[in-house]
Amino acid sequence: MTMDMRKIPKVDELLRRPGLAALPAVPAAEAVRQELDELRQGMLAGEIQEVPEAEELERRILDRARRNAMPSLRGVINGTGVALHTNLGRACLSEEAARAAYDVARSYSTLEYDVEKGARGLRYTHVEPLLCRLTGAEAAMVVNNNAAAVLLILSALAAGGEVITSRGELVEIGGSFRVPDIMEACGCRLREVGTTNRTHLSDYEKAIGEETKALLKVHTSNFRVVGFTESVPLADLTALAHERGLPMVEDLGSGSLVDLETFGIHGEPTVQASVRAGVDIVSFSGDKLLGGPQAGIILGSREWIAKLRRHPLTRAMRVDKMTLAALEATLRSYADGTAMEQVPVLRMLGTEPEQLRGRAEMLCGLLTKAGVRAEVVPEQDQVGGGSVPTQLLPTWAVAVTPTCGTLESLERALRRRERPIVGRIAHDRYLLDVRTLNQEDFAAIAAAVTECAL
Ligand SMILES: *Cc1c(COP(=O)(O)O)cnc(C)c1O
Repeated sequence: MTMDMRKIPKVDELLRRPGLAALPAVPAAEAVRQELDELRQGMLAGEIQEVPEAEELERRILDRARRNAMPSLRGVINGTGVALHTNLGRACLSEEAARAAYDVARSYSTLEYDVEKGARGLRYTHVEPLLCRLTGAEAAMVVNNNAAAVLLILSALAAGGEVITSRGELVEIGGSFRVPDIMEACGCRLREVGTTNRTHLSDYEKAIGEETKALLKVHTSNFRVVGFTESVPLADLTALAHERGLPMVEDLGSGSLVDLETFGIHGEPTVQASVRAGVDIVSFSGDKLLGGPQAGIILGSREWIAKLRRHPLTRAMRVDKMTLAALEATLRSYADGTAMEQVPVLRMLGTEPEQLRGRAEMLCGLLTKAGVRAEVVPEQDQVGGGSVPTQLLPTWAVAVTPTCGTLESLERALRRRERPIVGRIAHDRYLLDVRTLNQEDFAAIAAAVTECAL
């Protein structure tokens, strides 16, 4: 093994180089130390044989200092076309919701203060009337996310007993949320009925016994069993539960307030339909198809919601004021009938293919004018966020062929920018799907792609 650690330059020596001397002292020293540590470790592990030239080291240290200075959590330009991209933060808030969160973050608020009475108020009263009005539910509360909501519901209703669920609904959501594991964590036993593809009402009927505390229906958000299938309609299941004096619980997952048939998406249930079917408790996410902040929304009868509010876990899952502010503003858009224009997820899903094509042509025009090889191509999008797994929406994308470097190096360079641009490689081209892009970013996107592709 030939390695010479003595050839590694001294920290001070590097810091005197012009590029690094121009940086503030603390971040410069930090970047030098990190780079040299990595180099030493690489040499010890035998992965690096030679110490790079000082110029090369300086270039790497400057790049590292630049990356160190960026916030780790920062805005991204989403060119994937996936409106609810879980890795990219799921739903974008509406302007109204973002402003409401900003305002409430910067000042004291009425979070738990009743201004009429001058006395302590409840944090849930800000959104409960809106949720009830929009869905027809009797009562509502909000926790941190839907996983927390399901955990709370099962803990409060079924600890020590059995919960009956169809084998076809034992889902795993990304990030290790698995229905059987959640049941175990809540101290209740899962009683599986039916088969993967078919479950009948009689399967539930036969399984109900002394130990049964609830029937649970889980929306199979991120997968579909197709072919020879049968599941029990929610209204029938609810009727059975009530006949036996049991609560009917539903984990709705996405929880859309609008019928997605409007966007040509079939078979996705609405929250209102579950309430109408008479379920006792239903929960869903705030940041999936609703298009609001991360939250777990729980709707149900006054008695059950009161019971949930008193449960000790509720305090541990308490929803934050910024979340509540953003959620209230989002729900107001629905109540005012402006959700289709204001809530980004609905706007993105509702954009007509012809309009998307026009936008793709606009972005493509900026690129070709700058000399980039680009063209407009038809594509198909997933909705994402574990919603609507088997239906694709027609869309348009700009396909870029780099004239310098490879597709991979283009993808990487765009992804590593201060405002990362995330696209994808398909059919030997780099694709930017316009469904999830903002038109006001087009100039910046075109400039970045031009810089990296030429
Ligand atoms: C997404 C989802 C969850 C988890 O919701 P979070 O808001 O991400 O915690 C639970 N159940 C179903 C069916 C889901 O689709």
